Amino acid sequence: MVLNDKEKERYTRQMIINNWGESTQEKLKDATIAIIGIGGLGSVNSFYASAVGIGHIKLVDHDVVDLSNLNRQIIHFTPDITKKKVKSAAEKLSSLNPEIEVEPFAVELTEENIQDIIKDCDVVLDCLDNFHTRFLLNKTCIDLEIPYVHAACYAFEGRVLTILPKKGPCLQCFYPKIPKEMETIPVVGSAVGIIASIEITEAIKCITGIGKPLVGRLLIVDGEAMTFDIINVKRHPDCPVCSKYFPKKTSRFKKSKLKPGP
Ligand SMILES: [Zn+2]
Repeated sequence: MVLNDKEKERYTRQMIINNWGESTQEKLKDATIAIIGIGGLGSVNSFYASAVGIGHIKLVDHDVVDLSNLNRQIIHFTPDITKKKVKSAAEKLSSLNPEIEVEPFAVELTEENIQDIIKDCDVVLDCLDNFHTRFLLNKTCIDLEIPYVHAACYAFEGRVLTILPKKGPCLQCFYPKIPKEMETIPVVGSAVGIIASIEITEAIKCITGIGKPLVGRLLIVDGEAMTFDIINVKRHPDCPVCSKYFPKKTSRFKKSKLKPGP
């Protein structure tokens, strides 16, 4: 879709980046993103998804805003308490950028609804707080071949990994089993902001094709020491999710059909 004059003005500062221009901005306008979880990560991700001009933003969260969310979930304000998170977020995003479409889903992501919600997405963001749903998201994105970005936070720390189906390792190559879940995850809002900003930057790179995404490279941020480390993640040959999509390694030397001589 062609950009209107207001959009050209709104996005001026990013369109002058090398290799960006109108065509890249139009790619963003034509793109659909799903943000799964509108908590700490989802707040920042959805703000920047809207600001950068991703044309269609799906927000998925069944929860309502609670007072104890507000130290980190910066898209929700004090008067939003008891409001559905997707409604609270949709109001802010449409106000920030009326040129985009925001589609709220006030549901919990399940095996029954996940395909319908994400099937037409160009990229999906994992802004969840539990590995049970993350594993469902991972499997569905791999099966539907939708790129997605995994992020998780704990206290001052966080991790980000970009998963391109059939091109790199998936989440379960790194976590073969569901890690121990925590009822209440301790977290400082500003550290969530760092991780989420990296996550949405990865999504922008996936849509535009600019840069080198964190495929097979798990970024670990320690906000206390302020260190950024990368662990290389390889495809697991027995991954229960993605190994079926990769050809099995065969020996370089085919077995000889010749019968052994006398
Ligand atoms: Zn895998």
